[in-house]
Amino acid sequence: MRGSADQGLHCPPATAAGAMGRRACLAGLSAAVACGIATPAAAEAPRSLRLRNVHTGETFDDVYHDGAGYVAEMGERLNLLLRDHHADAAVYMDVRLFDILWRLQQRYLRARGHVPMLNIHSGYRTPETNARLVSEGAALNSYHLRGQAADISVEGYGIHILANLSRGIGQGGWGIYWRGRFVHLDTGPARFWYRR
Ligand SMILES: [Zn+2]
Repeated sequence: MRGSADQGLHCPPATAAGAMGRRACLAGLSAAVACGIATPAAAEAPRSLRLRNVHTGETFDDVYHDGAGYVAEMGERLNLLLRDHHADAAVYMDVRLFDILWRLQQRYLRARGHVPMLNIHSGYRTPETNARLVSEGAALNSYHLRGQAADISVEGYGIHILANLSRGIGQGGWGIYWRGRFVHLDTGPARFWYRR
């Protein structure tokens, strides 16, 4: 659902500001002050993600939340990018996962001065795909099955930096896979684990 970004910006009719004032008002936020009406609370900044699926090579480099709400079309693209590529099956991913990935990118931005590409090793998994990965450390009742988890690495950065910058980021599940050199993040209850 998208909220109304311009709520409260329209001038009341037949004000002293007149027709020109109304046009100016519709042109932008600053003009709303000239209209003599209260400006709305500042909109949130848009949120964007840079993702690459390491199996399919598909990428996403776009705004997924416009500051007022999640952009439906972008959500569909992200659901596809995060699909189970073995089964070619996609689900609606938990949008809170997008925000966790966004927050991680923001931490890299603050620490390293730029937004890196996040490599997606695994997003949604069908029960069949997940069962095949149990011997590699996947949980039987994994949050990947519910579209609430992603395994990621970060382009150009090692596992130690990723471990540091991703710690506590989602207040959900957080697991480090040292050998696989990726981190698991999910929107489930808070917990953490290490795998060699
Ligand atoms: Zn995982």
